[in-house]
Amino acid sequence: METAIIEQLTQDSYNEMVRLRRYFHMYPELSFREVQTPAYIAQYLRELGIDVEEGVGGRGVIGRLMIDASLPTVALRADFDALPIQDQKDIPYRSTVPGVMHACGHDAHTSVVLTVARILAQQKETLTGNVVFIFQHAEEVDPGGAIQMIADGCLDGVDAIFGQHVSSYLDVGTIGYKYGTATGIPDDFTVKINGLGGHASNPHNTIDPLAAAISFCTQMQYAVTRKSKPMEPVVLSITMFNGGTQHNVIPDMVEVGGTIRTFNSDAQNVMISELKKCLEGLVTTTGISYDLDYMKGYPPVINDTDKTDLILESAQEISSVKKVEELEAGLGGEDFSYYLQRVPGTFYYTGTRNANFKADYPHHHANFDIDEQGLINAVSVMLKSVFKFFDKETGL
Ligand code: MN
Repeated sequence: METAIIEQLTQDSYNEMVRLRRYFHMYPELSFREVQTPAYIAQYLRELGIDVEEGVGGRGVIGRLMIDASLPTVALRADFDALPIQDQKDIPYRSTVPGVMHACGHDAHTSVVLTVARILAQQKETLTGNVVFIFQHAEEVDPGGAIQMIADGCLDGVDAIFGQHVSSYLDVGTIGYKYGTATGIPDDFTVKINGLGGHASNPHNTIDPLAAAISFCTQMQYAVTRKSKPMEPVVLSITMFNGGTQHNVIPDMVEVGGTIRTFNSDAQNVMISELKKCLEGLVTTTGISYDLDYMKGYPPVINDTDKTDLILESAQEISSVKKVEELEAGLGGEDFSYYLQRVPGTFYYTGTRNANFKADYPHHHANFDIDEQGLINAVSVMLKSVFKFFDKETGL
């Protein structure tokens, strides 16, 4: 389909995409507790004449716009869960649910893919392939909904997948892409260091868990700088250190927690092994015991080169996109990675930052908002990439 027609169809849908986005913004639901949102999505898709499957992997929804099973199939993914944050914005579409807010933009993602579905359903006769619309629950908590939806068959017959995230780090009018590894592996850990409390004036009669915990924190920095490969980034942030009640009491237990972020499982495994060695060493030298709760994070998002080319080319053809830029990899996590382990695809970013609309707060902030003009770019680039994908697959 010609770019000018795509742009016109998108422009004509602007009011509807804004309405959808604001509706979801007003009625946010937490991860794994989504009820109204998937029901709304399913109903909307059904009214478009799209085949709908509900309860996929728990709370996910799939829409299938099937032309012919022998033709190529592309999947488009949106996540739809919100965060436990009190909306602080003073706008008509602020969250109506106390303590729950779409502070990451998943309301926008859902609106974008529903709008793409609506336009494609109306243009069905122009399609030379099939489109699977994946609406995913629970992206914000790990393990999230992607792995469940995949286990339940959402990628069956899918040849490629695209997903986009709005970004308050990119100006409206910008599309950001990344070849290869785009996100890190966000592991979390909590370790209880158990000693033997007692009087602070007689430390020799105690096993001081605080002294051991301090040693743990400093020794783990040694693991970052001396045990990890210099060219492979590792972040270790100890973000919790809790124990003790009074000046003259050595406590029984100290709890230490934090996050370890890496870009590949080799670097991740080095840090896990060093962490365990460090704790075992303290058992020997100090007499503590420990309880370790180590939670491995999402695998890294690794974008396919051809599919990233396709987004780059699509974005360059859309006239409302003023800038297309390659982004640096970041150490955040995103469970889109699980889809990319199964089928080639790419995860890209749509700029929605605009200080004039107070849409320049970071994601997960109580004032987070988007410039809704960015929705136009998100929809038109996604539409263009679908047609481009079919053209390439069918050799046009
Ligand atoms: Mn997000």
